[in-house]
Amino acid sequence: MSFCDISNPNNAMMPFEDAMSRMLNSISPIEDYEDSKLEDCLGRVLAVDIQSPLNMPPFDNSAMDGYALCANDLSTESSPTLRLIGTALAGVPFESAIGDGECVRIMTGAQLPQGCDSVVMQELVAVDNNNITFKQPVTIGQSVRRCGNEFKQGEIVLKRGDVISARHIALLASLGLATVKVVKQLTVAIFSTGDELIALGQPLQAGQIYDSNRFALIAQLKKMNISVLDYGVIKDNPQHIKAAFEKANQQADAVITSGGVSVGEADYTKDILQELGEIDFWKIAMKPGKPMAFGRLSQSLFFGLPGNPVSAMVTFYQLAKPALKKLSGAAPVAPLKLLATVTNDLKKSIGRLEFQRGFASSDDNGLLSVSTTQEQGSGLVGSMCHANCFIILARESGNIIKGEQVMIEFFDNNLME
Ligand code: AMP
Ligand code: MG
Repeated sequence: MSFCDISNPNNAMMPFEDAMSRMLNSISPIEDYEDSKLEDCLGRVLAVDIQSPLNMPPFDNSAMDGYALCANDLSTESSPTLRLIGTALAGVPFESAIGDGECVRIMTGAQLPQGCDSVVMQELVAVDNNNITFKQPVTIGQSVRRCGNEFKQGEIVLKRGDVISARHIALLASLGLATVKVVKQLTVAIFSTGDELIALGQPLQAGQIYDSNRFALIAQLKKMNISVLDYGVIKDNPQHIKAAFEKANQQADAVITSGGVSVGEADYTKDILQELGEIDFWKIAMKPGKPMAFGRLSQSLFFGLPGNPVSAMVTFYQLAKPALKKLSGAAPVAPLKLLATVTNDLKKSIGRLEFQRGFASSDDNGLLSVSTTQEQGSGLVGSMCHANCFIILARESGNIIKGEQVMIEFFDNNLME
């Protein structure tokens, strides 16, 4: 992969899609695995395909509380009667086989007794001591969950790269798997750059602001199950920044910084990166977030996010997150994009892909509408707090008039919870 010349501040803006594919193409998933207890593997990435060690269900069983019988055993008269000879409970099978004219009381999940092929729910029978009268015709196999019906022993049920959620844990547990092989958790080092940034809880002096990006980014990293090394705020001092990169390269799979990637006086980050490693694009045709760097040190990836808080959050979410997901071995998941009717005019200049902050809702018929939240300036974090989605406006699009259809992408749980 060739890296573009970043010394030229006038180089053309790279389309977002190109930046994304260049970045993803240059990343290979880590190949470091470990066994995890099932109860500890929420959010982890499966390292191997999971083959079912058993048939699911493992035996024919009843889907209902009712009566197990052989359907062919019922006479053709309109309300045939069978003799009750025992009970099958979940976990306590009926040990013998039924004979002609017999049935067994059976509970949901109980193994189907030998000789039975169907279950009739208890609401459809009349009980007179041990005589059970069936009021409706019976179809062979009704209310029976067949052995192997969901999947067969040896079948692949989950894929390498699946991110393990509660749903997957339910399946893995049902297969009896106490441990699973997962990809090692990523470690990401993070620091903010800027002489103006101070720690929370300190009084602000003239010209100072609180470092908010680091907290916002750490929160997103934690949601992704990534182990974070927090290096704090590093002053706009080339030696300090360089030392932080060298340490991060030893300790982490990736380094994330915010600030210092534009072309201001004190924007050292990209020059240092160029010296220590390789650096790729830094002007992406997106808004917010035009200045963003991506590259690599000898042992770790580097994401240089812009300093403006909304830009940092959006570039992380839209670019760094899919890249880190790929590094973690997670299978790519295309974000769901939906059309919604916009309820206010949107200002948009041609030339950059925009991620405006929107609040979308559905009406009683399920139709979506969306409005923008407050001012859209890239420093205004409030616009993120009142939003639940991005309104994605294509690079070539101009202003949008109220009532038009726009594409939205709901925030995932990185930003919502
Ligand atoms: P920079 O990219 O360093 O030129 O910063 C762009 C803008 O983002 C400036 O207004 C910075 O003060 C602000 N900024 C940079 N880093 C942070 C941060 N960690 N938290 C909040 N604002 C920041
Ligand atoms: Mg700065």
